[in-house]
Amino acid sequence: MERYWNQEIECMSQEDMKKLQDERLVAQVKHVYDNVKYYRDLMDEKGVKPEDIKGVDDLCKLPFLSKADLREAYPYGLLAKPLDECVRIQSTSGTTGKRVVAFYTQNDVDMWEDCVARAITAAGGTNEDVCQIAYGYGLFTGGAGLHGGSHKVGCLTLPMSSGNTERQITFMQDLGATILCCTPSYAAYIGETLHEMGLTPDDIKLKAGIFGAEPWTEEMRQSIEKSLGLKAYDIYGLTESSGPGVAFECCEQSGMHINEDNFYPEIINPDTGEVLPEGEVGELVFTSLTKEAFPLIRYRTRDLCVLSRKKCSCGRTLIKMAKPMGRSDDMLIIRGVNVFPSQIETVLIEQGYSPNYLIEVDRKNNTDTLDINVEMNPDQFSDKVKDMQEQEKDLAEAMKAMLGINPKVHLVSPKSIARSEGKAVRVIDKRKLIDNPAKK
Ligand code: ADP
Ligand code: ZN
Repeated sequence: MERYWNQEIECMSQEDMKKLQDERLVAQVKHVYDNVKYYRDLMDEKGVKPEDIKGVDDLCKLPFLSKADLREAYPYGLLAKPLDECVRIQSTSGTTGKRVVAFYTQNDVDMWEDCVARAITAAGGTNEDVCQIAYGYGLFTGGAGLHGGSHKVGCLTLPMSSGNTERQITFMQDLGATILCCTPSYAAYIGETLHEMGLTPDDIKLKAGIFGAEPWTEEMRQSIEKSLGLKAYDIYGLTESSGPGVAFECCEQSGMHINEDNFYPEIINPDTGEVLPEGEVGELVFTSLTKEAFPLIRYRTRDLCVLSRKKCSCGRTLIKMAKPMGRSDDMLIIRGVNVFPSQIETVLIEQGYSPNYLIEVDRKNNTDTLDINVEMNPDQFSDKVKDMQEQEKDLAEAMKAMLGINPKVHLVSPKSIARSEGKAVRVIDKRKLIDNPAKK
């Protein structure tokens, strides 16, 4: 039988959920207008008053907030509570430039951990589980978020942080960890190390993995599930809206339920700002309905995805978001064609290669070049140059079919591409001086 952390909310009727969201939004808009000059100025500029917002249907009247606003307001410009009521600061991992800091009151931390507790419960976690947290601890929200959620659920929590992979496996074995939480790229690395240590999934007790903080493909999921012998659940979040736990996967493993009682999602056309109907791909925008210290209204995540209200077999009625396809600023425009690293990953794993790859983009003689370095598995290695060239050619053809452009594929020796213990770096774009419209 499906277990819920908060059945009343997770299975609430759509009508009741909307009522709750309306009430919370009205209070939230008043809170930011009264307490944050930055918002007041933005709203005044647009000629909107808090009284104009009667519920989520009025959201479109409010201005968007972008990462640039957060940087401009750094560090205290968006703070909505006095500092003496705040108990925590966390920061983004800085994947795309200057870090952003977020503030939390105790209620904010409780709400965040509660969202993570829903995720752990949806992955089958209970107080009988041993939950190994191998996300980085510190300013990054991964470690802190999963740690807090694990405590809430009552799991025996193993605060490993990331790194020291052999020790991770030794503890996992000795202490019988049943749930592993880390980035998917680190999970893949742990799986690889497990096999190198001469162990198999039968030697460990993992049953579930809660992996997120970076984009990963279905193919990657299957590969991790096999190498670690577990069921892999996706979890999504961003520091700006608290951290992991904004959305989480259930047993159906087809998209993540958004904790929409706390985070109201919209999908917009990233070029025009127009709100798109359910089912269309666009940029995900979140409004935090309950956060006190650092509430963001209509925050543009730059993550591209789709929302769906289709009934889920787990019984939850919370709206679902598809796996994000990547960020609008991850998208590479190569010879005019949009390319996502995730498409490349899909082809690699489908063709039996490891998920260890590095994409290099450059511009030579006014033409964009795309080089994909792919690590071979030891059994793919051949000492005949001709065989290797054949393999590279086959892979380049499969890539062309997926991407629509011709890449150069280079098969490199096993273990030659750096492994990631946190978020993986998959792309080096050397065209730095060239204007990339996707980065605006
Ligand atoms: P940074 O922007 O520095 O990476 P965060 O650590 O707060 O800061 O990361 C949040 C971002 O990570 C999200 O906006 C999204 O792009 C990505 N992300 C988080 N979880 C997932 C996930 N499950 N799938 C895909 N992308 C994710
Ligand atoms: Zn579900």
